[in-house]
Amino acid sequence: MTRPLSPVTEAQRRALDIFRNGRRFVLVGHVRPDGDCIGSQVALARVLAALGKDVVVVNPDAPPPVYAFLYEDAPFARRQGITLPPHDVCVLLDINEIARCGDLDGPIREAPAAKVVVDHHPFLGEPWWDAAFTDRGAAATGLLVHRISRHLGVRLDLPTAEAIFTALVTDTGWFRYSNTDAEAMALASELVESGVVPNDLYMRIYQQQSPEHPRAVASVVQRLEYFCGNRLVVVDQPLLPPGEHVLEDNDPVLDLLRSVGDVEAVLYVREMEGGRCKLSARSKATFDVGVLARRFGGGGHAKAAGATIEGPLAEVKARLTRAATELLIERRPARRAGSA
Ligand code: 5GP
Ligand code: MN
Repeated sequence: MTRPLSPVTEAQRRALDIFRNGRRFVLVGHVRPDGDCIGSQVALARVLAALGKDVVVVNPDAPPPVYAFLYEDAPFARRQGITLPPHDVCVLLDINEIARCGDLDGPIREAPAAKVVVDHHPFLGEPWWDAAFTDRGAAATGLLVHRISRHLGVRLDLPTAEAIFTALVTDTGWFRYSNTDAEAMALASELVESGVVPNDLYMRIYQQQSPEHPRAVASVVQRLEYFCGNRLVVVDQPLLPPGEHVLEDNDPVLDLLRSVGDVEAVLYVREMEGGRCKLSARSKATFDVGVLARRFGGGGHAKAAGATIEGPLAEVKARLTRAATELLIERRPARRAGSA
């Protein structure tokens, strides 16, 4: 049974009007696009194309090949320099800050196009967009694209349903994370009724790793260090020599470290080119890693957040470990303070 649609806010109504009336759309995602980003872009591109719109998807980084089954038939532009095709609407998906669009930041700001945000991340600043279809309670951005398709009266074909299912399962950890709610489960059921075969997608997304993958996971995991009486686990990854297998997806490492009973927070710090490090942070219960990430110029959700931080790996790791430890100690119930 299809759930009733929640009432639209004023900003959402403006976004729907732009989707109805716009002609040439550019859909942009974030750096290192993930399953929710790619799935949402493919789904929205197909919904808008069904309404007769011109649509091009442009990303700052190449989409991971694991999602090729979704994007090979979608209008993903091959990046040539940092120009955007002519457009009158730019839609940011799975992000709410233009700064997260990498080298597309300048071209997006400069284009005289309406800016629409479709996203589920917390946002603390002043709204800068022309319209937004956002809901920070939504399990995935793909779920918002589904709501948009219903408001626009577009029925989903199978590739669109698969794209939305991919967005949903990759952002909920296949319905294990705390963002899994009744709407996410109901949507999954509806998508399966419309022809999606969950095991087919599971095989495509999670069962096609290269032979190097298990060793790459092992070499990161073995560097783990516990802090704060095992409440915090930190793992770092120095820049790999050229040709070495790089993990595309951090989740296998993060999920394994988070599975330890005492662990409340996981920090995965990767050294990047150019003297910077990338933080991926996860929390299990009440610890808010979004607060930690924002202290370092990043952002994200309470249970999954990240940041890009200037500095050498050892120093960044030490600063993050100190800050996370302070936050964990602040949160410790008074009667237990000082123990362990
Ligand atoms: P991941 O650890 O999977 O890269 O990202 C987890 C969450 O943190 C995502 O929802 C993503 O939006 C957010 N995030 C990751 N890296 C950054 C970053 O450098 N800046 C901001 N603002 N958010 C980030
Ligand atoms: Mn997302």
